[in-house]
Amino acid sequence: MPDARRQPMEAGTEQVGDCDAVIVGAGLAGLYMLHRLRGLGLTARVYEAGSGVGGTWYWNRYPGARCDIESMDYSYSFSDALQQEWRWSERYATQPEILRYINHVADRFDLRRDIQFGTRVTAAIFDAVTNRWTIQTDDGERVSAQFCIMAIGCLSTAQTPRFPGLDTFKGEWYHTGNWPHAGVDFTGQRVGVIGTGASGIQSIPIIARQATHLFVFQRTPNFTIPAWNAPLDPEHERHLKANYAEHRRKNRESRAGFVVPVSDTPALEATPDERQRAYEARWARGGFGFTSAFADLSTNEEANETAAAFVRARIRAIVRDPAIAEALSPRDHPIGTKRLPLDTDYYDTFNRDNVTLIDVRKDPIEAITPDGLRTRDAAYALDRIVFATGFDAMTGALLTIDIRGRAGCALQRKWAEGPRTYLGIAVAGFPNLFIITGPGSPSVLSNMIVSIEQHVDWIADCIASLRARDYAAIEATIEAEDGWVAHVNEVANTTLYPKANSWYMGANIPGKPRIFMPYIGGVGAYRKKCDEVAAKGYEGFTLIA
Ligand code: FAD
Ligand code: NAP
Repeated sequence: MPDARRQPMEAGTEQVGDCDAVIVGAGLAGLYMLHRLRGLGLTARVYEAGSGVGGTWYWNRYPGARCDIESMDYSYSFSDALQQEWRWSERYATQPEILRYINHVADRFDLRRDIQFGTRVTAAIFDAVTNRWTIQTDDGERVSAQFCIMAIGCLSTAQTPRFPGLDTFKGEWYHTGNWPHAGVDFTGQRVGVIGTGASGIQSIPIIARQATHLFVFQRTPNFTIPAWNAPLDPEHERHLKANYAEHRRKNRESRAGFVVPVSDTPALEATPDERQRAYEARWARGGFGFTSAFADLSTNEEANETAAAFVRARIRAIVRDPAIAEALSPRDHPIGTKRLPLDTDYYDTFNRDNVTLIDVRKDPIEAITPDGLRTRDAAYALDRIVFATGFDAMTGALLTIDIRGRAGCALQRKWAEGPRTYLGIAVAGFPNLFIITGPGSPSVLSNMIVSIEQHVDWIADCIASLRARDYAAIEATIEAEDGWVAHVNEVANTTLYPKANSWYMGANIPGKPRIFMPYIGGVGAYRKKCDEVAAKGYEGFTLIA
């Protein structure tokens, strides 16, 4: 790294020098951030805990993992040459294909030489005298940087419930979010999958085809919509590539970062026949467009129930045993208020003789035993256990780092009652710290790569503007932060989202504050707001000379 100035070292740490920016994480966000900063002529160093690039797509290698946004949309837009040359093979690419793509991007833009793999950032401390951050890693390195950019992901801290006895289990167990690189062959095995969120829903049909017997331990049934995945239609690809710039523009201005036909008719103004036809058409198309069939599905509970009832009827039509169909039918949350999984053959899997569904809300898991799993009422002999139990989402990865802003204030303390940000990018009291897709931004409610590119571009433009005007630092004001937090909550409360015990609400982590964390105002409106803030000379921020 250029411009290395040795500084006094703490025992056990090695000062490796200075750079303009440290980026934490080498997923889609960190890689593009590095590319943009290099383009501005800044020196940047990326620290990545994994041994390769890819983030989500590096860690989540479970069977069936694939994207839920169509690949032609779930891909970078910043380079026309890249988007023209890359060819996706399926409507929704598999994890290996997405990881190949991310590796291709890292090579094509020569990104690896500034990335240090296998290194976890453990602390980031701000010095108000120098306006710089000192970043420390688990292998004892310290580096000083003007800017600290957290590209650590919203879903990167896997959550394994602390069932007693896990350490006594004689078989192997895995978390979907930290899957063995060599893969797992379930042939001839008795397998238990705990969790029926998107990761469980994607992996269960495939594991069921391999295993001798699969036991699915379900606490809460989830709505899922068919993906109808298929090879990418070459004509569709040709058409999109010919119109990519316009297509990407529409994605950026849309509500969720991809374009689906959105009805402006309220569900309850349609007749039952019209509703049935609309839901059938959306079901036949597959994907997230299902919940855009009517205008008020995310705001009116009665309207939402018409869509939920349609899906439950589908479950009953697919699953032959009425008791299993009922157990798979969600009744505790409005449809769409948890991220809707897209599936391939999920419900049909429960027609197989080698699959058993266990309702662990009625019969709770008590312990993992040496030979399997014990619920209150039964014991299950298992050779393998898969935890598809999700993540400490949105704040988990940030709060495992000791981040200290002005006067040594810890982010963990500041966020003890829930995350507080300005625009989801910045935090009052933490100058020159940027969070990509942080809480308070659309992030997980969107096609995330659209939100990632928007944040990266905004941050890069902000840094360029500071440098051009010789400012040493930028810091969100507490008033702007308070105002934004109030706005995020206000908008969330106009919707049905807070009614679900979702990870959006922090409800999946015992003891985590219940706050709706992402911003639901829409990707297009949010981008406009961020652009206005910049155009007004970074309104809501203090610029420090
Ligand atoms: P990540 O990909 O999570 O990368 C963050 C990186 O930071 C990780 O590699 C991690 O190791 C590293 N890191 C974290 N903490 C530290 C630390 N302290 N020190 C060093 N390194 C650290 N979104 C969509 O829009 N569409 C989809 O189809 C979709 N599918 C998904 C499927 C799965 C299984 C999951 C879990 C998520 C999915 N998402 C999807 C969300 C997905 O996380 C984002 O789309 C996107 O990949 C996030 O990129 P990122 O770079 O922001 O974060
Ligand atoms: P998740 O949605 O949080 O689901 C976790 C599952 O584990 C839930 O069914 C949960 O039940 C269950 N669970 C957690 N703790 C449990 C316990 N102690 N006992 C029993 N069951 C327990 O996690 P995920 O499936 O990994 O998905 C997380 C997010 O990642 C998704 O929402 C999505 O954004 C993204 N993702 C996307 C895709 C894709 O299609 N591209 C695939 C995977 C993930 P409760 O509901 O009762 O808490």
